[in-house]
Amino acid sequence: MKINFNQPHLTGKEAHYMYEAVFAGKLSGNGKFTKACQAWFEQRYGFRKCLLTSSGTDALEMCAMLCDLKPGDEVIVPSYTFVSTALAFLREGAKVVFADSMKRNPNLDAESLEALITPRTRVIVPVHYAGVACDMDAIMAVAKKHNLLVVEDAAQAIDSYYRSSNPLTSNPLTSNPLTPLGGIGHLAAFSFHETKNITAGGEGGLLVVNDERFVRRAEIIWEKGTNRAEFFRGEVNKYGWVDMGSSFLPAEINAAFLWAQLENLDDIQAKRKALWNCYYERLSLLGENLRKEAGVAPFTLPDIPDYATNNAHMFYLVLPSLEARTALLAYLKEHEVYAVFHYLSLHSSPYYHDKHDGRVLPECDRYADCLVRLPLFYDLQMEDVNHICDLIEAYYR
Ligand SMILES: *Cc1c(COP(=O)(O)O)cnc(C)c1O
Repeated sequence: MKINFNQPHLTGKEAHYMYEAVFAGKLSGNGKFTKACQAWFEQRYGFRKCLLTSSGTDALEMCAMLCDLKPGDEVIVPSYTFVSTALAFLREGAKVVFADSMKRNPNLDAESLEALITPRTRVIVPVHYAGVACDMDAIMAVAKKHNLLVVEDAAQAIDSYYRSSNPLTSNPLTSNPLTPLGGIGHLAAFSFHETKNITAGGEGGLLVVNDERFVRRAEIIWEKGTNRAEFFRGEVNKYGWVDMGSSFLPAEINAAFLWAQLENLDDIQAKRKALWNCYYERLSLLGENLRKEAGVAPFTLPDIPDYATNNAHMFYLVLPSLEARTALLAYLKEHEVYAVFHYLSLHSSPYYHDKHDGRVLPECDRYADCLVRLPLFYDLQMEDVNHICDLIEAYYR
């Protein structure tokens, strides 16, 4: 039984809505489906302003532009993340200061954050790895104290929440202690790449503006530096070039694809969580039994702190060493299960290592060497998960 790492899911309505978009006669961005998707996010999560983008990377680049960085300004980014998190800010001339991960999970370590702050620090970029919240109360408190902006990289974090004990981060719309990720920082970016929980037809993203001060400029940057959106709403009688910007809007057919997925988000999340829970139950039992027998745990499972929820974006194991990981991946591949690893530490990457300040980031390096991602996608079957767990069990026995 061959099991791929990922397979994009079709809800069934994608082609229908794309057909509708094509025959509506407006193919470029900001049409009916774009507006519907944006309004959906604003209503469901209480985000102040949402703008669809062509990718999560685009949304991060818009965030970086909105931060209005000056040369030499510093931005704190975890080293254990996708390239775009750092690149978006580096392109704006910032100096990227890499933070280490926590021991308990790959998220940025809020406790050691303050030690990285200098008079030049402007922005903190928490990445909600695997859709699991960073400790946002702690991060927002540090940001407030030092007057910094917070940009959430929520690329993996759709429909996931932070449980706040602090009014700073509780949802203004509902005063619910569960605040949606992407709704806490001043700005946030989501991705709808085909490897994420939902996709806009392969590539897509969303910029979230929570701070009113950035709303107008975000729309201008989105529209190639023009005030065209205001013109179309009848707020100005001609439009022109007023600021920096680029072409960040996706075409309507991508928004139409995304709309079909948004309509089915609850179903998608429920199925992914059921698969995730099956992995967790089986592998925690196996891990516990092996630990009792051998005295050492063969791997650790994903960690969801009390302040976080799980959106079942990813199921991963952390092995004790690079050798142990390489051997498990090879074994799974031999049995046609395509598990993967990811994120080579950005601070020691070929492009950045000579720009890095030389600090060692041991937890980041450990995840880079030891983390394994198991297949997790909507169309995976419960029997596939059981098969993968059987294989892992057989491997350790
Ligand atoms: C996927 C991802 C991105 C980039 O999103 P794209 O849509 O692929 O551009 C950025 N950051 C993180 C943490 C991601 O997982």
